[in-house]
Amino acid sequence: MNPLVLLFLLILSLINASLESVLWSYLDQESWANACQGKRQSPVDLPDICYQKQDLKVKLDSKLRLSLFFYDERLRGKLTNNGHTVVFIPRQQNIGIEFASSSVKNPTNYTFTQFHFHWNPDDTKGSEHSVDGVRKALELHLVHFNSKYKSFEEASKKQDGLLVIGVLFQECFKDKEPYKGITDSLSRISKVGTTTDVTGFTLRSLLPTNFDTFYSYEGSLTTPPCNETVTWILLAEYQRISYKELSEFQGLSVLDPDVGLRRQTQPLNGRTIYASNDDYCGIKKTRKRGLQDFNAA
Ligand SMILES: [Zn+2]
Repeated sequence: MNPLVLLFLLILSLINASLESVLWSYLDQESWANACQGKRQSPVDLPDICYQKQDLKVKLDSKLRLSLFFYDERLRGKLTNNGHTVVFIPRQQNIGIEFASSSVKNPTNYTFTQFHFHWNPDDTKGSEHSVDGVRKALELHLVHFNSKYKSFEEASKKQDGLLVIGVLFQECFKDKEPYKGITDSLSRISKVGTTTDVTGFTLRSLLPTNFDTFYSYEGSLTTPPCNETVTWILLAEYQRISYKELSEFQGLSVLDPDVGLRRQTQPLNGRTIYASNDDYCGIKKTRKRGLQDFNAA
């Protein structure tokens, strides 16, 4: 083939790839292409492990474990309004986790690469994942890639490439650090395409107290190209954010201001949702114990 034609085709495919990741809308989710029409898509509806029903679709996996590395390190980085979300990219590259479960032979290390948020003008529809059909006000995603790969881009195409920790939020009346620090910065990135430097908080401080009790399932990126390469971790305990802080997110200029920045829940298609334990439910004192240990079965 003529080298010039080859070059033209190469440029065209690169443009296509980058266009796919930029030119999409939450308005027409049904038309998202390729992997977005697959069988292991995210987000999904999670059964509430603390209010079990007879036909509960969660299995206990007592080998599920999450260890955090350098989550207590003070972050430095950039917060950007890209029109689809507000994303924080750290300067540090040493932060990560170790993840163990029954389905992986050895514990796997993942490198933290960015966090971002999903929200909606309506407080009751902000999160992507729902619990027993109920959405929460906001959802935080901490994105990690398998440390055996060189970059997020490379890992995102591999079966064992990505791990995302999801945190659901309930509203409260009192401002809560470090979210106050983040939302105070939002006024500097109110327009799409703007960026600001932020510092002074740790990843650990973004999480609720309990990160031992969580759900895990195999899913996908929740935005195009929807790669089905994500191990999802959803913490059982909710984080809190004040109504005022939430309104700072809702006041940002975004590309789809009226529909909310989150995808509809997707069918499980036979996938299993696992839980690390149900200890957190003991704190709530509202539950009946009885998750069956997946490893003992
Ligand atoms: Zn996300």
